[in-house]
Amino acid sequence: MAPARHCRYNRHFVFVKNAAQGMLKRFIDRLRGRRAADSPSAKKAHIIARGRHGIARQRISSAAVKVLEGLQGKSYQAYLVGGGVRDLLLGLTPKDFDVATSATPEQVRALFRNARIIGRRFRLVHVLFGRETIEVATFRAHHEQDEQRTTTNAQGMIVHDNVYGQMEEDAERRDFTVNALYYDVADETIHDYVGGVNDLEARLLRLIGHPETRYREDPVRMLRAIRFAAKLDFRIEAHTAAPLPHLASLLTGVSPHRLADEVDKLLGSGHAETVLALLEEYGLLHYLFPDLHLNDASRRLILATAQSTDARLRIGKGINPAFFYAALLWQPVQVRSRQLHDHGTPLVPALQQAIQQVIQQQMTRTALTRVLATTLREIWEMQTRLQNPDIRRVDEMLQSPRFRAGFDFLVLREQSGEPTGQMGDWWQHYQDADNEGRQALQAEVLAARRQPDGAAPKRRRRPPRKRKPA
Ligand code: ATP
Ligand code: MG
Repeated sequence: MAPARHCRYNRHFVFVKNAAQGMLKRFIDRLRGRRAADSPSAKKAHIIARGRHGIARQRISSAAVKVLEGLQGKSYQAYLVGGGVRDLLLGLTPKDFDVATSATPEQVRALFRNARIIGRRFRLVHVLFGRETIEVATFRAHHEQDEQRTTTNAQGMIVHDNVYGQMEEDAERRDFTVNALYYDVADETIHDYVGGVNDLEARLLRLIGHPETRYREDPVRMLRAIRFAAKLDFRIEAHTAAPLPHLASLLTGVSPHRLADEVDKLLGSGHAETVLALLEEYGLLHYLFPDLHLNDASRRLILATAQSTDARLRIGKGINPAFFYAALLWQPVQVRSRQLHDHGTPLVPALQQAIQQVIQQQMTRTALTRVLATTLREIWEMQTRLQNPDIRRVDEMLQSPRFRAGFDFLVLREQSGEPTGQMGDWWQHYQDADNEGRQALQAEVLAARRQPDGAAPKRRRRPPRKRKPA
């Protein structure tokens, strides 16, 4: 009996050992991102062959190709994905190239010099080539499949998303169908799991999966919808657009740093005019700039700022993000400053306090860097001095490194119809004039101040100086 029992135990042991090995292998496969051949859930991709799509391999940056080939050379799966593929298919120049791979962040880092792992909520690798950065993300799995490792908070928001998976799972956890197309440099095919190619042809922005759940997982997707719709001139598909107004308040749960990044991208997209119109249409603007209550005047100023920024970007000029904030928060600054003044605070301190309060309030929504907050304060504080300059200090003001931003903002206010006494125009002439011209312009201001009609800039009334007791 003993040998038989021994044999049974032995068989049982072998069975347990095999099962454990199988589990371990599947686990390792999963970590490596290799697809289990018999995986029943493997969803088939629609494959678009080389020559049947518009992507020419030469249009992909050599840095991205190096990363893709480096990974494939070590038998990892690696594809170009996201905005790079989408923009190339649309005939646009991609802003950057993103790579998706079966290699873990550590495996990617081990392969390339100048690679570093970044992010906590979403770990990825930045591979640096001079000024270009290739962002490499490991295939992610569905969050429902591993509740322990993908953490959502009480509102359904994903706080960690580092569950690795297969390529087809990765496709489904991306945001929009047109952002989930995978390009293989080796055979130049495109792999489409979610109907992205059709949507791209129809110029439709469609969220993958159940829209409300996807927005709850990550409310920033609402802002991404607006950015891509504006940038690509796409329509937001009806089910993707419908939840926006009633989910807009979810933005209050997003960190101010992430929102600030997204606001920079939205306003610096080169399509700020459309972006602002869409943010307002879907009720999102209020959650980014809670102090702002649009009226005709602020609307005109914001529109003028958006148009001038978009125009600068079109001709390849840089933009100062402080400018947007200056325009968007100018109305709140004026309202607060007026309230403080009505309650007895003198004009200048009222303006300074209002600026402080508005900046502080805005920081609870979008984190402003110290440099940005300082520039913003300077732009606003300079407006009074520019509108009503001390003639003896005009040349000094002109030399100040801060002059340009303040002056540009004054011009925008003037263009949008704010009463500025045409001083934007005056400063423009002053900068262009020679010595003689400048003196004439100074005399013009002084003469205007002597006019009683009030149309021209008035001299600031100074309180009589108090004499010090002897
Ligand atoms: P662009 O770089 O032109 O702004 P992009 O689509 O490449 O656009 P990235 O922020 O670079 O945007 O992200 C790369 C890809 O990662 C996206 O295309 C998308 O597939 C995925 N992705 C980015 N952010 C999210 C998100 N919040 N939710 C789901 N997927 C996302
Ligand atoms: Mg990108």
